[in-house]
Amino acid sequence: MTTKRDYYEVLGVSRNASESDLKSAYRKLAIKFHPDKNPENKDAEEKFKEAAEAYEVLQDPKKRQIYDQFGHQGLEGAGFSGFHGFEDIFSSFGGIFDDMFGFSSGNRRSRTQRGSDLRYDLSIKFMDAVFGTEVEIDLERTAVCSTCEGSGCKPGTYPSTCPQCQGSGQVSRHQGFFTVRTTCPSCRGQGQTIANPCAECHGAGKVLVNKKVSVKIPAGVDSGSRLRLTGEGEAGSFNGPPGDLYVFIHVEPHDFFQRNNLDVICSIPVSFIQAALGDEISVPTLNGQKTLKIPKGAQPGDIFTFHGEGVPSLRNGKRGNQLIQIDVRTPTDLTDKQVELLREFKRLESRKSEKLTTKLKHILKGNSAGRQA
Ligand SMILES: [Zn+2]
Ligand SMILES: [Zn+2]
Repeated sequence: MTTKRDYYEVLGVSRNASESDLKSAYRKLAIKFHPDKNPENKDAEEKFKEAAEAYEVLQDPKKRQIYDQFGHQGLEGAGFSGFHGFEDIFSSFGGIFDDMFGFSSGNRRSRTQRGSDLRYDLSIKFMDAVFGTEVEIDLERTAVCSTCEGSGCKPGTYPSTCPQCQGSGQVSRHQGFFTVRTTCPSCRGQGQTIANPCAECHGAGKVLVNKKVSVKIPAGVDSGSRLRLTGEGEAGSFNGPPGDLYVFIHVEPHDFFQRNNLDVICSIPVSFIQAALGDEISVPTLNGQKTLKIPKGAQPGDIFTFHGEGVPSLRNGKRGNQLIQIDVRTPTDLTDKQVELLREFKRLESRKSEKLTTKLKHILKGNSAGRQA
């Protein structure tokens, strides 16, 4: 029996290497010593096999644990005897070689495949986003062929074993004295061929259809919300499950309301008289008109709140608030009478300021009457 090198040493990793450390270390060695790159090099061949064996053990938590505890002997005791030639290695680590060399040398690829997911961008009105709605969308997508029920075969016929690979999905390529297995070009790794394809789908097992899909939009969605409709994506291949449909929501802007998460914001014009004297005004809310009390002496930009008049939360239905900002305006269409009254107002204002000035003078002089006032 030959003495074996320590597996961690072979891969050049520490004893607490993670799964991805192991994989990348192995990948480097496998590329370096791959038989395709080192034809007729006995040393490279040994190194390639050694690395594969080390990786085979360490990537398997059970085997790794046995090896950590009992070493090579422990593994032998557990029935592990390493690889028997390259075919063994390639069929164990097909996946790694797939992305390394761009060909499949792994196990037969399954015919069954999940369908692709689809994306649909949907624009909805502001109020529909607030209260929810149901929309029917037209979708062009693949569906399982009803003629062959997805098999791709003419009804009454069945797929036959691929004559080139005898159903294994792989063919052997000889290179020097190495044998490299690659995906069968005839059946593309599926191991089966269709002698009598279905006339409807030409053997694909699926056809392109237009389908109306009803989408329930929950109350409270916003631009950027994404809805998933399970199973409404592309059909799977050969009885594979269908993909999902993702609906991306875009909410159209509203003339009056703006949205900030669950709050709606609006701006209401009021005259400076209303702001000065206070007033009650009618304000549109998401659910109709509501009265807002503007207090005496309100200032431009003041914000008032209607609690619970905002957008419902997608999570618990609890509604946000409506924030009303007042936009104080100066009237431009005054009547003569109004002008006259405003002049009077102005006169009173200047008298008020005269009084104030006098009072200030008193204060500055230290007059006690001024201090009392
Ligand atoms: Zn068909
Ligand atoms: Zn084949």
